[in-house]
Amino acid sequence: MRQRGKLEYGGRATPQRTCVGCRVRAAGSELLRLVLVEDHVVPDLRRRLAGRGASLHPSVRCLELAERRRAFPRAFRVPGPLDVSRVRAHLEEENHDMSCRTPS
Ligand SMILES: [Zn+2]
Repeated sequence: MRQRGKLEYGGRATPQRTCVGCRVRAAGSELLRLVLVEDHVVPDLRRRLAGRGASLHPSVRCLELAERRRAFPRAFRVPGPLDVSRVRAHLEEENHDMSCRTPS
């Protein structure tokens, strides 16, 4: 069996997800689940929304990394561009460490 994708759990029970921003793997529960609603990436806080999801550390820095590498269109398999303002607003509410930039 090749060591790829979902088969890298290493025997641990917790499913691992990869953050689309920094590409670091973490337990799914540590990452924010994002889903696509039309052209908007929105946080799926209750993990209830159907459809393809992407995982992101709940950090503005990872969101910016993901935007820079255009990870969202790739994760959702759409041509993009996608609106991430709702994710950004959510993250800026949660952590204020990176909040010194004005929205464009
Ligand atoms: Zn990350």
